[in-house]
Amino acid sequence: MSQDRFEIDEFARCLERAHAHATAYLRDLPERHVGARLGRTALMAAMHTPLPAQGEDGRAVLDLLASQAVQGTSACASPRYFGFVIGGSYPVALAADWMVSAWDQNAGIHVISPLAAAAEEVAAQWLLELFDLPRDSGVGFVTGCQMANFTCLAAARHGVLRRAGWDVEAEGLYGAPRVHVVTSAESHVTIDVAMRYLGFGTRALHRVESDAQGRMLPRRLRETLARLEGPVIVCAQAGNVNTGAFDPLREIGAIVRERGGWLHVDGAFGLWARANATLRAVADGIELADSWATDAHKWLNVPYDCGVAIVRDAQDHRTAMTSVAAYLIQTGGLERDPVDWVPEFSRRARGIPVYATLRTLGRDGVAALVERCCARARQMAGLLGAEEGVRVLNDVVLNQVLVRFGDDDELTRAVVSGVQDEGTCWLSGTTWHGLGAMRISVSNWATTEEDAARSAEAILRVYRALRTCREMSSSTAAR
Ligand SMILES: *Cc1c(COP(=O)(O)O)cnc(C)c1O
Repeated sequence: MSQDRFEIDEFARCLERAHAHATAYLRDLPERHVGARLGRTALMAAMHTPLPAQGEDGRAVLDLLASQAVQGTSACASPRYFGFVIGGSYPVALAADWMVSAWDQNAGIHVISPLAAAAEEVAAQWLLELFDLPRDSGVGFVTGCQMANFTCLAAARHGVLRRAGWDVEAEGLYGAPRVHVVTSAESHVTIDVAMRYLGFGTRALHRVESDAQGRMLPRRLRETLARLEGPVIVCAQAGNVNTGAFDPLREIGAIVRERGGWLHVDGAFGLWARANATLRAVADGIELADSWATDAHKWLNVPYDCGVAIVRDAQDHRTAMTSVAAYLIQTGGLERDPVDWVPEFSRRARGIPVYATLRTLGRDGVAALVERCCARARQMAGLLGAEEGVRVLNDVVLNQVLVRFGDDDELTRAVVSGVQDEGTCWLSGTTWHGLGAMRISVSNWATTEEDAARSAEAILRVYRALRTCREMSSSTAAR
């Protein structure tokens, strides 16, 4: 059943249906089983039909999707979802995102969407203030920190090669001076992927040893740099994806400056520590970098997707990203064309939910959000670490906690999957320096003290049951 005329009533009917489904979903969210309950087989059975020759009723299609979403999604916006590093959505952020869809703006250039361009311009300024980074930095709103890392490193590639007298945008990398890229042994995999996109290749990465918390060792960085000739880019990290640890950025910043290199910081969630006066000490020296990548869909709790690329030298940023085509009608004046700061061409107005959220929270609200998540992480670490046989492997400096059970990989993995099945909360496992661990990330604005306590209790219940089981089977075996 297709439609070929603009009818406001049909929009209204579809949106009302979507609104009803969305609020029902959100109403259940805090108490539902947190993990997804349906996998591919069940979902394909419900959803896979031959492409219909005659269309169906739009609202019936929405109903079908909503019915499968109840069990076919994981409740990753739940206050008790601690997997990966995933925030939920603030009500105003979600609503602003809906308006973005209704307006259906192509936010690439100012001429198409002055509103999107203005919202991004203001949100960019606010972010630079919150993070206390140079106010004239270039800022681009991208899909996530993967693309933020890519964008920043493209600016870095441009910057270091420009200084070496090479125009990489025109000439490419064939015949270019060799650029050395240095990162820590613990950098996020998206740095490696950015190396591939940028034509450097992952083998070109020089990896610097890190310490027990995953922090790059400045002494080793110095040694590595001493061996390298020519342009260098160093990728440091604010917030290790496992431990939450920060590289010693002040020391690293001084070393890289002395060498005349470009320092990039992956601060997907860690950069937000700068928004809190008490926590910002962990990110001391971050302002010495040349570029910073972060996410808004993680800690700011806007809906997927939104990352932010920030580059100190706005000209390097813009030159690496800008597109010029005769039909584009880019502005020559004060107006900002978002396309100049990101790899995407046509794009969603993803700065608008950021604008709405920052304006709603205010500086104090963001600071409180960051502190609250860290407090919940410390709370869970305390509750779990107090149990006999349970060990917290990291210094809980931020919102990440690594927990090991019975000093045993197999038991730890069993606790993780037991907790996933039990459904009170959801988290995943990792391997930290050779040890299996449960990984807890508190990144949701709505996680309360009670949520943290209930989740820790559920985890310990699963652990105790498994421990008893094991003791029984080992005593049976001994007999
Ligand atoms: C999540 C994360 C990324 C990747 O970000 P996406 O938003 O998933 O693209 C990069 N670095 C770190 C440290 C992260 O935690």
